[in-house]
Amino acid sequence: MLQMKELKSTLRDYMGIIRLSGYESRMAYRFKEDLSKYTEQVQIDKTGNVIATFPGSDPEAPNLMVFAHMDVIGFVISRIEPDGFLRIDRVGGISEKIVQGIAVMVGSESGEYYPGLIGAKAYHIQSNEDKAKVDSFSSLFIDIGATSQQQVNDLGIHVGCPVTFAPHYVELLDNRVAGAYIDDAAGLTNLLQIASLLAEQTPKCTVHLVGTVMEEFNARGAMMAARSVKTDMAICLLGPGAGDTPDQRGVNNVVLGGGPGVTLFNFHGKGTLNGNIAHKGLFELIKKSAAVSGITLQRSAARGALSDTAYLQLENDGIPCLDMGMPDRYSHSPMETCDLKDLEQVGIVVTNAIYAIDKDFDLHRY
Ligand SMILES: [Zn+2]
Repeated sequence: MLQMKELKSTLRDYMGIIRLSGYESRMAYRFKEDLSKYTEQVQIDKTGNVIATFPGSDPEAPNLMVFAHMDVIGFVISRIEPDGFLRIDRVGGISEKIVQGIAVMVGSESGEYYPGLIGAKAYHIQSNEDKAKVDSFSSLFIDIGATSQQQVNDLGIHVGCPVTFAPHYVELLDNRVAGAYIDDAAGLTNLLQIASLLAEQTPKCTVHLVGTVMEEFNARGAMMAARSVKTDMAICLLGPGAGDTPDQRGVNNVVLGGGPGVTLFNFHGKGTLNGNIAHKGLFELIKKSAAVSGITLQRSAARGALSDTAYLQLENDGIPCLDMGMPDRYSHSPMETCDLKDLEQVGIVVTNAIYAIDKDFDLHRY
């Protein structure tokens, strides 16, 4: 079983791996290697999902997929200026407000990464109007130190190449950690924690622990994994945003350090008309597990976001789904923040829930 020290070092390692949506292979190979310590059955499917299987003792029990996404938000190069600056567009949900002046990593077609930055206009030359204005992505640019388009191309960097935030890892007070890619390095860390527990004691149900691709791009990578393993139900390890910062007070009851967060309702109305309403049976299972484990759960219900469960729940004749995980602050910024106590508790609650699943678990939605 992974202890807090190992959870912390795993989270730090995973936060340091560059992996834009569609370019997850570095993370996938590392994750496959880590999971292989706990089961011989680890595969990477055609889409790039990493699937580790722990066979259960009762073939009549419904099987469960627990997953977290391996990919991260970032940018794609849309144009290269003659003098070597790179123009970009966003991949996933990134606000223009947080990107000027940040460090980035720019990928080449052969998979090399080069450091760069998103240029910010010097304070001294900004008009009062400039200071209050947010520049659109079309006016932003990356500087990698190159002086010509030829120099950029000679590195193998072209239109279509990936860009991500440069990895950061900072330890704050009281077991809190900040940096890029906590979304969803945290969920992957939990999967490894769960794998270490399942390796010690065989559950009744077969469990597939899956690192998925392309969540930040189209929230559908998990669908292909579910088709590969023909899962009966699924838990997505993705925590809700905390509402305990000065700008978020009153938004929800979720606080950092308050325990695992369960999303009872989410809905992304911006064109997708999709979300997930938690499966009652799975929620009851998690509630009982938390009670047995002496861990407090936090509840979240909000519009504005969704995860792979939105699409996964529509597979086959319906897959019961639940989203839960470690709460975070400043999501989709280069300095997301979390509390490691919450992280540890998520893995414990999910593992104890897994051991409680038997052939009588009701998959129906009532
Ligand atoms: Zn995200």
